[in-house]
Amino acid sequence: MNNIKLVVLGSGCVGKSSLTIRYVHNEFIDRYDPTIEDMYRKVIEVNGNHFMLEIMDTAGTETFLAMRDLYIRNGQAFMLVYSITSRSTFQELEQVKDQVLRVKDQSVARLPMLIVGNKSDLESDRMVSSEETEKVCAKWGIPFIETSAKTNMNISTAFELLVRQMQRKLSDKDKKKKRSVVCQIL
Ligand code: GDP
Ligand code: MG
Repeated sequence: MNNIKLVVLGSGCVGKSSLTIRYVHNEFIDRYDPTIEDMYRKVIEVNGNHFMLEIMDTAGTETFLAMRDLYIRNGQAFMLVYSITSRSTFQELEQVKDQVLRVKDQSVARLPMLIVGNKSDLESDRMVSSEETEKVCAKWGIPFIETSAKTNMNISTAFELLVRQMQRKLSDKDKKKKRSVVCQIL
């Protein structure tokens, strides 16, 4: 079974741990230690293929900025999370996205990435509209989904979207490789 190293990134308190734990253990913990960063494993089936997802739930500790490069370097797929109730957490994602592109030295076309607007159950506290995020994400070329770790809305769909994207981007790479081999033979 292939392993996929997935990294969950984003500001503190947006629900990175909550959505990871919802996905892996199907529970919602109201208060989770914000300094805990941990790795979780779960088997995922996509298009009849099984993968071992290794999910790195990152945290905003002091040493985090330096550590983030390391997490990104080791990661293969990236979930960039903000909270729909906080505009600044959305704005901060641009820098995270740029850091992923820089550290991996890859274009968006090659990198499995997903923007996740969490806490969608808190509609009355919404500060970022889905239309606005859609526009920005279309400009970046990165897909976007809204989730709720509390109600379990779109949580497994988000992880599946990311794995599907990874499969597609890997197979594109294989096709390109094969094409270049053919060219060399010719
Ligand atoms: P992290 O710092 O990004 O890991 O955020 P946490 O997962 O620790 O969540 C921060 C706070 O937001 C906690 O009090 C969670 O219970 C709450 N939270 C997380 N996800 C949701 C959600 O989808 N809906 C609501 N209403 N609260 C959430
Ligand atoms: Mg956390």
